[in-house]
Amino acid sequence: MVSRVIPVETFDLVIFGGTGDLARRKILPGLFRRFRSGQMPEGSRIIGAARSEIDSDGYRAMIAEAIAEFGGDEASDSDSLAAFLATLDYVAIDAKGDGGWADLAQKVRSDVVQAFYFSVAPSLFGDLAERLHSHKIATPDSRIVVEKPFGRDLDTARALNAVLSTHFNEDQIYRIDHYLGKETVQNLMAVRFGNVLFEPLWNNHYVDHIQITVAETVSVAGRGSYYDKSGAMRDMVQNHLMQLLCLIAMEPPSRFGADEVRDEKLKVIRALQPVAPHHIVRGQYDAGPDGPSYRNDAENPRSFTESFVALKCHIANWRWAGVPFYLRTGKRMKARSSEITVVFKDLGHTIFEGDTARHRNILSIRLQPNEGMDLQVTIKEPGPGGMRLIDVPLDMTFADALGADAEEVTDAYERLIMDVIRGNQTLFMRGDEVEAAWRWTDPIIQGWEARNDVPKLYDAGSTGPEDAMMLLHRDGRKWREVKG
Ligand code: NAD
Repeated sequence: MVSRVIPVETFDLVIFGGTGDLARRKILPGLFRRFRSGQMPEGSRIIGAARSEIDSDGYRAMIAEAIAEFGGDEASDSDSLAAFLATLDYVAIDAKGDGGWADLAQKVRSDVVQAFYFSVAPSLFGDLAERLHSHKIATPDSRIVVEKPFGRDLDTARALNAVLSTHFNEDQIYRIDHYLGKETVQNLMAVRFGNVLFEPLWNNHYVDHIQITVAETVSVAGRGSYYDKSGAMRDMVQNHLMQLLCLIAMEPPSRFGADEVRDEKLKVIRALQPVAPHHIVRGQYDAGPDGPSYRNDAENPRSFTESFVALKCHIANWRWAGVPFYLRTGKRMKARSSEITVVFKDLGHTIFEGDTARHRNILSIRLQPNEGMDLQVTIKEPGPGGMRLIDVPLDMTFADALGADAEEVTDAYERLIMDVIRGNQTLFMRGDEVEAAWRWTDPIIQGWEARNDVPKLYDAGSTGPEDAMMLLHRDGRKWREVKG
């Protein structure tokens, strides 16, 4: 299999917040990998812009260190690293004042693709957008990339959209949700819409239910005070899980184009029914042998914020009527695992005498670890002894199936940044999608706040509170095992 890396057009990418955690851990190591693979054409430049009063050499040294720490094996390629660092430049800038802007205006070229990555707190988005215009840096073709969180409710999301749309058109705004950049997420669309096999079964006639789990082992320590104002519903469900739900549930778009795909995703969000309080379980991790409690990590002894959510929801349309979607996400869980599982219905009738077990086809799509998918099928147990049936997985782990090309299973950030340069918005959230997602999420959160809802404690290293098990148990179903 030949790996094809198609270079993008020459670009100037300005990273506001270029000295921050995200830039050092993800954005720049990712860009280095794209550079090494030949995707970043000669003449392209990356300009860090942040508050620190360092010069370009100081910035290059900082990024060299970041790549050594976060860049994996590739960081040892010193020739490429030196060439990559030569593409970097830096401007000390104040988003809230005029310092540094004239300097930036000098550096950014207008005859190449211009992209501005807002890797800063959302409270600065308006200032950056405003100054990019008042200093005549942005052009009608410039792109801006904005990070999550995109608001903390419908009102704040609307306000952010309004601020950005004062200076940029929707087709210039790239709202990043890095889950959409994952290889498997795109594969989900390839599997659904590139095969004749699945689509006929993708509905309430054949699907019993769907599960989406995003389990993390990490605690909130280190970002506790930020997280405590957010919680799992805002931090994970409203964006990442919602996007996965959309891709799994949407109607086939007429073509794989940005607006066609996003129109279909929007319809799914709009068709989501309100969730009854007894269909949601909130949890908060307790202290365990491996670490302190959530409240300790959040430095808030009376916190009611959830570090875990499990919920059951329904999509009110012909395809999905009656099919429950179970969503679950949490911190400090048993294993780091993200998986979407489609559980098909039982056979109406079995012809195999004495076979009392329930055999089900289950398609699971793993986002992490071991990106890939498997399909559980029923076969005859090998050997003599009659017609005994067993379930086995048809496993496709990309690393096994694609061999050396699996190295090209690129990190989500680098893929998405290349899409920005290409001008492809398919994997970015549109403003109306984000608002619709908040419109569905807000009443849930407001309900908790009004009731002073106290999350259920769960043991760190477990799969969440007991009530989350019961959510499915009551329906005669069970969660997939959380396996790392
Ligand atoms: P950070 O605090 O590590 O870095 C913030 C950056 O913003 C720094 O480079 C700082 O110099 C710059 N900055 C702050 N005030 C400024 C000002 N007035 N003018 C110019 N520059 C200014 O933050 P981070 O973790 O890198 O996060 C950046 C954004 O990305 C945030 O919106 C965050 O929510 C989002 N995000 C971060 C992560 C992550 O893993 N770190 C993940 C998802 C989203």
